[in-house]
Amino acid sequence: MNGVKLRNVRRSYGKTPALDDVSFTAPEGQVVALLGASGSGKSTILRLIAGLEAVDAGEIHLGGARVSSVGFMLPTEARRIGMVFQDYSLFPHLTAGANVAFGLDKLGRATRDETALHWLDRVGLKHRAGAYPHELSGGEQQRVALARALAPKPHAILLDEPFSGLDASLRAELRDATLATLGEAHTTTLFVTHDAEDALQAADRLVILKSGHVLQEGPPREVYDAPASVDAAAALGPINIFKGVIKNGAIDTPFGPVAAKHLPNGSQATAVVRAEALTLSPGGGARVAALRPHGAHDLARIESQGATWRALTPARQPLGDTVSVEIQSAGAFAFSD
Ligand code: ADP
Repeated sequence: MNGVKLRNVRRSYGKTPALDDVSFTAPEGQVVALLGASGSGKSTILRLIAGLEAVDAGEIHLGGARVSSVGFMLPTEARRIGMVFQDYSLFPHLTAGANVAFGLDKLGRATRDETALHWLDRVGLKHRAGAYPHELSGGEQQRVALARALAPKPHAILLDEPFSGLDASLRAELRDATLATLGEAHTTTLFVTHDAEDALQAADRLVILKSGHVLQEGPPREVYDAPASVDAAAALGPINIFKGVIKNGAIDTPFGPVAAKHLPNGSQATAVVRAEALTLSPGGGARVAALRPHGAHDLARIESQGATWRALTPARQPLGDTVSVEIQSAGAFAFSD
């Protein structure tokens, strides 16, 4: 299989394992997000795939060939990997065109310049070919870096926090433009992010990481709708958590029951309810402690029986001081303790 494959990869720095038995696949031509908090091992994975560091155990395959295993490391330059780092790492003394042409040294000069222009055109920057990096905006520099990474037709592209340095409006625009370019180029892409929205919006598949472990892997919709654990659920958006004992196939939370039919009655379990899975209507047993705008929604803090939960509700819905709460089963999950 082409694409990128990690099998049982371990990597430690001193005694601390940064990656512990990490396995996942980035299928050919797909965009895969590595999502996790700071320190979860995302950048380490990119460095290992790029061949900048060796694995302590396990194997990495790229474009159908083994490139890393214990005692074996194909050099970075032989891996055909394109990299875009957070600071874009453009050569400051070279024009945009020359930056893109830089990795094409095997081609003759005329073909090289033509190819560079072609890729600048693909990212919408042909007209800026003669500009130096300092004359370009952050978003434009990022697009040049992407063109430079794609031009040599790599097996895979690695993007480290590609959208994190940009303000919110530019971020979504650049994210969509980047994805369109990657989609057209049909290049296997791994991108690192700590932002759930970027991962959900941009990726064909997610790999959710925590402390060097893969919590869950799969298409965004599947992972969102069927999280494998409390941590995997929490990685993709605000959740509420309640610990209880299962009675009659459900956990009775202060805001209503959460089905737990797959778990034995009488056992300890944790209910997880996504903030948007709570439907509020005016008047009822829960108190509205706060109601604040939250993008396209309002975020309500609701209290019942000493518990406070967060609920994402339609913006400007008049709720009053008390509400009744309905838990939507699509966003409610139960896990055994
Ligand atoms: P992320 O990219 O998700 O923030 P990293 O891959 O950078 O996470 O780091 C994973 C873990 O490995 C962290 O605990 C980090 O402190 C540790 N680590 C990463 N690189 C090094 C290094 N060169 N030396 C020592 N520890 C490191």
